[in-house]
Amino acid sequence: RLAHLGLAARFPISSVVAESLRQRGLGAGASHRVRRLHRGHDDLELALAEVVGMPRALLFSAGYLANLAIVSVLASRSSDVFADRLNHASLNDAMLLSRARCRRYAHCDLTALESLLARSMAADKIVVTDAVFSMDGNIAPLPGIAQLCERYGAWLVIDDAHGFGVLGASGGGALSHFGLDSPHIAYVGTLGKAAGAAGAFVAGSEQLVELLIQRARTYIYTTASPPHLAAGVLKSIEIMRSEPWRRQRLAALAERLYGKLKLRKWCLLASQTAIQPLIVGENSE
Ligand SMILES: *Cc1c(COP(=O)(O)O)cnc(C)c1O
Repeated sequence: RLAHLGLAARFPISSVVAESLRQRGLGAGASHRVRRLHRGHDDLELALAEVVGMPRALLFSAGYLANLAIVSVLASRSSDVFADRLNHASLNDAMLLSRARCRRYAHCDLTALESLLARSMAADKIVVTDAVFSMDGNIAPLPGIAQLCERYGAWLVIDDAHGFGVLGASGGGALSHFGLDSPHIAYVGTLGKAAGAAGAFVAGSEQLVELLIQRARTYIYTTASPPHLAAGVLKSIEIMRSEPWRRQRLAALAERLYGKLKLRKWCLLASQTAIQPLIVGENSE
């Protein structure tokens, strides 16, 4: 229910959703590529691109599908994909589906990543990483990773499922948190966490989004998310941007947990985000 910012069950959002349902009915009725008839999806894509500071954004029905899309569109059989060892399962599946050569580097280890990039002979190189790791709550060293990508001519795919809405001054996520901007970054944000709903988007350059519309199989061959969902998410993005106290409260709650929880045997890992891992130990514990 909490979904990071307390937006999952809020009144102004539920009434916007109800109104959209009344006006437009339940389903999108077709795949994303066909349903371009629904203005609500376009309005949401514009708002998402603006909040993360990218030229354009494209909606998907789930983060899992967005990750499959971006990795398989950028990578092919002859590419090398480099992935953090603790990446989310959907990025791992995306990597396998792309049929590229997959190399995993030690968690957040820039030296290990650089030596893999330096040895790669592939024409297309793609680095994929979570921005906020969903098990440990730590943030990837994105400025360093982006620099390496620049140096070795690699694409950088960032999965910011837990940073979107939470990091950055207006909830813009990991890119605005670090002030990163590059035409070779593909940013994936999900709408089921801080935004409190469901769905996801990929943000990037105009050309990248066009490529996704033409090639991404999880965009073309699946039903678009319902229009009332887009209407509800648009409202929650508005609240997310205009009410910074929600982010401050989340940070304060995490700090309170860290400071006040008295543990004898188990331990809480240091984490700068709302994901607070409690290490219990063996299964029997
Ligand atoms: C939740 C999550 C996803 C999947 O997003 P869905 O919209 O639930 O499919 C992808 N990546 C990370 C890091 C996540 O935490």
